[in-house]
Amino acid sequence: MQYLWAPVLTALNEAIFERQLSALAIVGPPCAAQGARCLLDATNARLRPYRDAIRLIVAAFCSGMYVPGLVSDLIERSKGVPRERVRRLAVSPTEGTLTVTLWGDGELSIPLTEVQPFTRRGCAFCEDYLGGAADLSIGAIGAPPSHAAVIARTSLGEMALRNAWGLGLLELCAEIDREALEAARADKGRRLEAEALAGLHLLMLGALSDPGKRAQVKEHFARLYGPRGSKAARKEEEHGGCGACAGAGC
Ligand code: SF4
Repeated sequence: MQYLWAPVLTALNEAIFERQLSALAIVGPPCAAQGARCLLDATNARLRPYRDAIRLIVAAFCSGMYVPGLVSDLIERSKGVPRERVRRLAVSPTEGTLTVTLWGDGELSIPLTEVQPFTRRGCAFCEDYLGGAADLSIGAIGAPPSHAAVIARTSLGEMALRNAWGLGLLELCAEIDREALEAARADKGRRLEAEALAGLHLLMLGALSDPGKRAQVKEHFARLYGPRGSKAARKEEEHGGCGACAGAGC
């Protein structure tokens, strides 16, 4: 994963119509996997060439991608490192750094706060970390050093994995940290909740000066917290009024 955005699906036209390729694997971030899955699920006859050519969808775990300005503006101009010296980019959310490995010797460590302005806009709203639409999802989180965690999500993905293993292309190790995977998934899922809550706050502020917007606030609130509104009310409903919420602290 190189963390620089590339329009993977746009390249399909060249691959299928110009180069006449007919057995393609799409490898990209989860959003590209979602797009490819939409193509495969579509019934429109005009999309058939795509459906016939795409055989496998592989997604890399993704917390965000950067626009090319990351290299030209930040790494080249601000840090003074020519782009041809950049060998690899690696993001570490736990350490809060982007590590730029250079050809030859050395590496550069940049705090993610400096890197953040170069994140693609849509990534701030994305909740898919583990590539749920892909046949196979792959990434470093949850795997021991020098290994990758692989999730086979479809029978096709499982078959591809078994074939690769049967051909001796993979070395297996069973030490997967499922909790780390789940934490990464949930962390990104929380973005949606935060976004929805921010939307509710804005609506509430608007309703202070315009009472006509109160109905909108109620609707939004009900969407977030259910028709009975409060979290406490929902717990009460779940327990049928048994009072277990308070006792169990749940
Ligand atoms: S964070 Fe989401 S939208 Fe951004 S590149 Fe990754 S999968 Fe796509």
